Amino acid sequence: MIPYGKHSIDDADVESVVDVLRNQFLTQGSVVPRFEQALCDYTGANYAIAVNSATSGLHIACLAAGVGQGDLVWTVANSFVASANCARFCGADVDFVDINPLTRNIDIACLEQKLRQAQQNNRLPKVLIVVHFAGLSCDMQLIRQLTQSYGIVLIEDAAHALGGDYLGQKIGSCQFSDMTVLSFHPVKSITSAEGGAVLTNKAEYATSVSLFAKHGITRDPALMVSPSDGPWYYQQIELGYNYRLSDVHAALGLSQLQKLDQFIGQRRLLAERYRQTIATLPLLLPSEESYMSSAWHLYMVELTQHDRLSVYQQLHNKGIGVNVHYIPIHLQPYYQNLGFRKGYLPNTEHYYQQALTLPLFPSMTEEEQTTVIAALNEVLL
Ligand SMILES: *Cc1c(COP(=O)(O)O)cnc(C)c1O
Repeated sequence: MIPYGKHSIDDADVESVVDVLRNQFLTQGSVVPRFEQALCDYTGANYAIAVNSATSGLHIACLAAGVGQGDLVWTVANSFVASANCARFCGADVDFVDINPLTRNIDIACLEQKLRQAQQNNRLPKVLIVVHFAGLSCDMQLIRQLTQSYGIVLIEDAAHALGGDYLGQKIGSCQFSDMTVLSFHPVKSITSAEGGAVLTNKAEYATSVSLFAKHGITRDPALMVSPSDGPWYYQQIELGYNYRLSDVHAALGLSQLQKLDQFIGQRRLLAERYRQTIATLPLLLPSEESYMSSAWHLYMVELTQHDRLSVYQQLHNKGIGVNVHYIPIHLQPYYQNLGFRKGYLPNTEHYYQQALTLPLFPSMTEEEQTTVIAALNEVLL
C-alpha cells in the first residue's frame, strides 16, 4: 500500500538520537534549546518553545492569550480536532468560520461579516486560530488587519505549513500573528516522533507559554513574587503542565530540520507532477496559489463527478492509500452535543463530501507516483 503520507528517517537522524541516548541528558539537557534556536533561525521568529505536541502548544498558546472560562475562540472546521479542542481545554466556547472553496482556508469575507455581527451582538472572540490547510498559508496580512481592529489575538495553527512561505517570509515568522504553532508528528513536514513548538516575536507570550509548558515553575528571580531562598529555589507562579519535549525527541527534530528544505523541494516536485498529469481528469486540484509557496503537507483533490466512497475503495483495492482530510470538526459528536448542526458551514461540508487526499511524501518515488496516476486514470475515466 502506498500511504498518503510518510516520514523520512536517515542514518544521521538515527545517530543523533543514539548520541543523546548514550551521552547526554534524556530530557532538560542542551538539545532542546539548540532545537528551539534552530527553529528561530529557520523561521525568523524571536522565540520558540518546544513542546510535546502541537495539541499541547495550541492549548498553552490559548492560555498565554488569556483564554478562559466563558471566552470565545474562533477557528475553522476544516482541520484536525485539536484546532478547536485547545479552546475547550481552557473552558472557552468555540465557533467556526467557513472556508473559501478555492483555497480551502478561512474565508476572509465570511470572517469579515461574522466579526461585524459579533461586534453588534457584543460577543467577539478573544482569539482567532487560523489553519494553513494542506500547507498553503492563509492571507495573514488581511486577517491581521481585520482582527487587530477588533483587538483579537491571532494564532496560526501551522501544523501543515512548516517549510512554506508567505509574502517572502517563512511560515512561523509571526510577522502577521501573535503566535504560531508547529507539529512534528511523523506525517508533518519534519518529525520528532511526537512534538511541536510555539513560535512568537513577543517576549510576554514566550514567557507565558514557557511557564505553562513547565508546571508554571520559574527559576527567574525577576518573575518570582518574593526573594529567592537560594540557588536551589524555584517558584510555581501559575498552574502549568508538563508539556516539555524531551532531548531524545529534540535530537530527531533538530536532525530533521537540516533536511526540511530538501523535503519541501521533493514535495513541490511531486505536487507539480500531479498537476501536470491529472489536470484533465474530472477533479478539482489545489489552488494555483499553492504552487508558489505551499509546504505541500497534503495533495488533496475534489471529485467532481464520482462517488467518493466508491473511488476511495477502488483505489485502496489497487494499493493506493488515499485518505480524507477533514471530517468537519463541527460534525463530530462532541461538537454536535455542543449544539452545532449540519448545514452550519456549507463550504466546509461541501468540500468534505468530495475531498480525497492523494499520496505525497518526500521519499515517494517517481514509480510510486506513476502507479497512483495510472490507478486514478483507471478509476476516474
Ligand atoms: C496534526 C495537527 C495538529 C496536532 O498535532 P499534534 O502534534 O499531533 O498534536 C493540530 N492541528 C492540525 C491542523 C494538524 O494537522
